[in-house]
Amino acid sequence: MSALKVQKTEAEWKAELNEEVFHILRQKGTERAFTGEYSNHNEKGTYHCAGCDALLFESNQKFDSHCGWPAFDAPAEETIIHEHQDRSFGMVRTEVTCSDCGGHLGHVFTDGPTKTGLRYCINSLALKFKPSA
Ligand SMILES: [Zn+2]
Repeated sequence: MSALKVQKTEAEWKAELNEEVFHILRQKGTERAFTGEYSNHNEKGTYHCAGCDALLFESNQKFDSHCGWPAFDAPAEETIIHEHQDRSFGMVRTEVTCSDCGGHLGHVFTDGPTKTGLRYCINSLALKFKPSA
């Protein structure tokens, strides 16, 4: 992986993030479906990385996927998301991480209902929402 803009040791992340957010971002955890605060959230604004504040998604890219996690059909900017092949749990999935801090966000699937055909399935805990002014 190329050098990240935001580099911290795991101990530094642990000190900075709450336990649940640390587990998602740094240990590739997944929050339980329908528990995240943004899974059913339709306000206008922007979604930022909970680790480094990078702008990841905009509310007009969010759609209701009924899958229990916030879903987006495209990132705010293509370069802000890194994709990695993930073969854990006996599945082949595409993991997505924040390209600025390397934090785990969720996965991207190619069954999206909009014209991009993509469904970024993201943990609410990996995101920080900022309402548009
Ligand atoms: Zn980040």
